Amino acid sequence: MTPFEFTEPDVLDEDLRMVRQQVRRFVDDVIVPNGEAWEANGEIPRSVFRQLGELGFLGMRHPVEYGGGGMGCMASVVLGEELARSSFGGVASALTVHSDMSVSHIAHNGTDEQKRKYLPDACAGRTVGAICVTEPHAGSDVAGLKTRAVRTAEGWVINGSKTYITNGVYGDLYIVAARTDPSAKGSRGISLFIVEKGAPGLKVARKFEKHGWRSSDTAELFFDDMKLPHDALLGEEGKGFYSIMDTFQNERLVVGALASGTSARAIELTVDYLRNRQAFGKSLWEQPVVRNKLAWVAAKAAAVRALTYQCAQMIDQGKDAVREVSMLKAFGAETLQEVVHTCLQLHGGTGYIIGTPVERMARDSRILTIGGGATEVMLEEVAKRM
Ligand SMILES: Cc1cc2nc3c(=O)[nH]c(=O)nc-3n(C[C@H](O)[C@H](O)[C@H](O)COP(=O)(O)OP(=O)(O)OC[C@H]3O[C@@H](n4cnc5c(N)ncnc54)[C@H](O)[C@@H]3O)c2cc1C
Repeated sequence: MTPFEFTEPDVLDEDLRMVRQQVRRFVDDVIVPNGEAWEANGEIPRSVFRQLGELGFLGMRHPVEYGGGGMGCMASVVLGEELARSSFGGVASALTVHSDMSVSHIAHNGTDEQKRKYLPDACAGRTVGAICVTEPHAGSDVAGLKTRAVRTAEGWVINGSKTYITNGVYGDLYIVAARTDPSAKGSRGISLFIVEKGAPGLKVARKFEKHGWRSSDTAELFFDDMKLPHDALLGEEGKGFYSIMDTFQNERLVVGALASGTSARAIELTVDYLRNRQAFGKSLWEQPVVRNKLAWVAAKAAAVRALTYQCAQMIDQGKDAVREVSMLKAFGAETLQEVVHTCLQLHGGTGYIIGTPVERMARDSRILTIGGGATEVMLEEVAKRM
């Protein structure tokens, strides 16, 4: 099969090109042959985190002195693209929530002691991280969250619940957003906490059955007088909302990378299918109306990819990229729907059969217009900045 690939962007240095090759090899050797079994089990073996950790891919963004690679946003983009090319969106989500969306809060806002305690194991894949923001009554409206943290003489006591938490069942380290000042309005008065698995009062209430991302676990969590030490507070008290918004920029960038990698793989599989499928006396590829459809989505996928790298570059240069990243989250996730459904259509009946890569990619991709900021919410962020 000829890989469907865009030219490697000039902004990628030799190190990142090597990262791409190594992650791709790991995807081909480990993820692709085992992904279906993990989908069936609803779980990714811990050994996968450890192997990727040993290769240095889970801590690329974290500081070198705590076991990380000290790299910029481009590293997250390359990792996201290559994991997505596996065609197993659940695997890519579990791994990138760990590498780019949860433990990152400790790297950005933790004390030296917290970083020393948690980052080396997270970088090595010995622990798995989760980010716990969404609640049953507060998803898009993060500032509406109600989970309550109260400071006592012994430490913090947290009551409330979280839902749809990726790595919520099998994770070890939860970054939890809770309200520390109920009198403060909306986004003010929210703080972050580091919660270790087994904290007294932490209950994994249920594991959800999902439309897609079936190999990643998604849980509902309850905090019933959950007791934490004083030093579980992560970052400044009352500033948690702003840390969440900061880290969302990286999360949304990674969604762009997932869209780019998934699109490339779906298009590649479809070119291959069309070249080999005979109908009406020739291959389907020889029907211009068919291949033009694919060329059209390939053009859009190329635009998503270009915007992904532009956003990464802007963030790495320290520029305010909220508008562009919000555009990317909306445009990337929506374009991906068009790409995977065009590819599914062009696979005919095969595309509708459970277990074919294009069928799985269509299911897995659906969440990306919702999770991490729904398209409508992202477009509002863009509009506010116009
Ligand atoms: C598989 C999966 C994994 C997830 N992983 C995590 C995780 O690890 N951690 C975590 O904290 N959360 C996670 N989430 C939650 C996810 O981020 C939320 O589902 C998402 O933010 C949307 O929130 P909601 O589901 O409450 O939808 P709602 O906020 O109820 O919104 C419903 C819909 O209304 C529309 N809408 C909402 N607000 C507006 C608006 N202002 N203007 C116009 N339209 C609007 C959108 O179409 C939106 O999809 C996950 C969800 C899923 C399904």
